[in-house]
Amino acid sequence: MVTYDGLMPDPNRRVLLARPRGYCAGVDRAVQTVELALERFGSPVYVRKQIVHNTHVVRSLEERGAVFVEETAEVPEGSVVVFSAHGVAPQVRKDASDRHLRTIDATCPLVTKVHNEARRFAAQDYDILLIGHEGHEEVVGTTGEAPARIQLVDGPGGSDSVQVRDPARVAWLSQTTLSVDETSETVAALRGRFPQLLDPPSDDICYATQNRQAAVKQIAPESDLVIVVGSRNSSNSVRLVEVALEAGAPAAYLVDDAADLSKEWLESASTVGVTSGASVPEDLVSGVLDWLAESGFGTVEEVETVREGTVFALPHDLRRRPDDRRPDDRRPDDRRPDDRRPDDRRPDDR
Ligand code: SF4
Repeated sequence: MVTYDGLMPDPNRRVLLARPRGYCAGVDRAVQTVELALERFGSPVYVRKQIVHNTHVVRSLEERGAVFVEETAEVPEGSVVVFSAHGVAPQVRKDASDRHLRTIDATCPLVTKVHNEARRFAAQDYDILLIGHEGHEEVVGTTGEAPARIQLVDGPGGSDSVQVRDPARVAWLSQTTLSVDETSETVAALRGRFPQLLDPPSDDICYATQNRQAAVKQIAPESDLVIVVGSRNSSNSVRLVEVALEAGAPAAYLVDDAADLSKEWLESASTVGVTSGASVPEDLVSGVLDWLAESGFGTVEEVETVREGTVFALPHDLRRRPDDRRPDDRRPDDRRPDDRRPDDRRPDDR
């Protein structure tokens, strides 16, 4: 038996390590975007909001010259500003343009997809019920696409207060990082009120959120406790704690890193589940595994539920320039909605 730290394994103490875990394609792209922007334009590069919801990632980019701001009004005119992975409302783009900022958009393409759906449903005069958490940046950005048509529904209980103009023209959308099960409950409650409720064309809860929840569901029933590495403002990380508890883990804790761990949690535990949110670098998970190994949990079994291979192309401004790009570098599906040629645009995009 191989142990994580090379010590003799304790057969009564093991770690179940969920896979997939950690960085998703959208987070990877967003972090690379800031890194490349710093390389290309030099410091400071301004970033509106946390580029991804992880304390360590933000601190590390700050050390390299990124300056995080809450609003574009704080960015000096003419500077470079990166929009975070969670997306922005059209008004934010306009404000940035009015201030002559050079913008680089790190919005995850799967968030952009939800924005496009919101615009399309609104153009068709639907009332849109957006399932999500009030105040979350992604929800604020999506709502900004059609503020007069979108109502927020925060969980199954939120369906009672919804008012629509025409029950035959209602559609739902969701934040990308919700609990899959809770969202199904919310949709069922909404459909109870509006039987003709229209579904989005495809899942809004993204592949990474779904895969990480499926993986933690697999390890939770066998674990005495589950440790989720992630920050408190990370929606998908907080959902992993909830899903672990619902799936049968007697306890589940959210930690930013190994410094947040407590020996008391391990008393009488024999199996510890470990996973991490979509904005968490793997070295933070390694730190947790090191700490567990020092506490007698050196045997690590990785439980893989699905293999991920999704990669998103970088924002247009940061891709290699035409003269240094090889002809086969760019696949047709690399293009993002904001990367279409003018003649590609659909009528409701204008
Ligand atoms: Fe995109 Fe999902 Fe990752 Fe959010 S969690 S950045 S929506 S892939």
